[in-house]
Amino acid sequence: MIVITDSCVGCAFCKIVCKEFAIDVLGRAEIDRDRCIECKLCIIYCPLEAIRVVE
Ligand code: SF4
Ligand code: SF4
Repeated sequence: MIVITDSCVGCAFCKIVCKEFAIDVLGRAEIDRDRCIECKLCIIYCPLEAIRVVE
């Protein structure tokens, strides 16, 4: 499962790169689990390493 951590500052880079439109940013990023296919692209692009994979 992909999760957003407290390090997120809401820059929205992850929202821009997500091809599934699974991220919305309202102060902090939030992931729509019904849309997310766990491609991990957002993890690569987050400048603050605020996105993680947890089991
Ligand atoms: S790219 Fe990282 S810091 Fe920016 S909104 Fe997404 S999770 Fe937050
Ligand atoms: S893992 Fe992929 S599909 Fe899921 S939120 Fe990140 S970029 Fe979007």
